[in-house]
Amino acid sequence: MEPTRFVTDASLEFVARRLRFLGFDVASHRGARLEELFDVAARDGRVVLTLSDRHPRKWAHVESLRLPRGDAGAAVRRVVERHAPAGAPFSRCPQCNVALRRRSAFEAVGEVPARVTRAGGPLTWCPACGRWYWLGGHVTRLVEWLEEATGKQVPLPQAGPGIPGPDQVGGSSADGADA
Ligand SMILES: [Zn+2]
Repeated sequence: MEPTRFVTDASLEFVARRLRFLGFDVASHRGARLEELFDVAARDGRVVLTLSDRHPRKWAHVESLRLPRGDAGAAVRRVVERHAPAGAPFSRCPQCNVALRRRSAFEAVGEVPARVTRAGGPLTWCPACGRWYWLGGHVTRLVEWLEEATGKQVPLPQAGPGIPGPDQVGGSSADGADA
């Protein structure tokens, strides 16, 4: 399957974040009308994710995927069953949809709790919003949610040589908003 890139609005922000955790490229246009989403999708080669059953005739050639309202797990599953992600799980910023960069624990000193830098990583960082991400207890819960929703295994990022595994790293990242 070729990776699919998506565009959506604020009504699916929670679902969009969960999809980004799985590696999907999901652009958000918060206040956009449906017509504007189709316009962006046509221009950027994206598929519209929407709660609406409306598909304006002008954009009949642009693909969209209607997701169920009020059931984030079912919505995520519908995307995963039909489309391939653009990258690995935990490789995109769930807030900004930007590819995360791997950085050393040394560079994170003073920006994340000391116990996280002491554990040594792996740490990733978003060049757009400056948030740091690491494997902690919150990731275990998130992976459980994602596996329950999709019925598939969600591999964690590989720890590098000399880097402790996820079970040795505690704590939580700046992304507590919807975890
Ligand atoms: Zn970010």
